[in-house]
Amino acid sequence: MAMSSFNELAEHVGHDVAVVTYGQRGPEVAAADNVAVECVTCAAVLLGFDNTDTPDAPPCKLAEATLSVQPPLAEAQFRRLEELIGRQPEGFKDWAPSFHFALPLTTDPNSSPAVAYAREQALPHQLEIVSYWP
Ligand SMILES: [Zn+2]
Repeated sequence: MAMSSFNELAEHVGHDVAVVTYGQRGPEVAAADNVAVECVTCAAVLLGFDNTDTPDAPPCKLAEATLSVQPPLAEAQFRRLEELIGRQPEGFKDWAPSFHFALPLTTDPNSSPAVAYAREQALPHQLEIVSYWP
């Protein structure tokens, strides 16, 4: 999982770090699916990006991506999701029938840290993705 805080990254101070590609189909780095800065010592990804120019990537564009989480959701989990998504804190309503988080459209919603967190925490959730073809 990519780093998202000072403390997470600070754990790797003094470690060996390398920039590597994943899913590379030819000699060109541009033919890779993903590029990542990895800590070799811990075999952990510190920072990674998907290659949005991959030739076999679907031509559709994202219009909307919403993560819906069903209760029970603890306030701390709600706050963590807001933090991972990078949205402004809102009032937490523990009586809400479900919680909706609009995900940023700059990265693949399936690999969003918020979705990974919902999986990790075993929160009942759905990811709704609306795409369009330009
Ligand atoms: Zn490390």
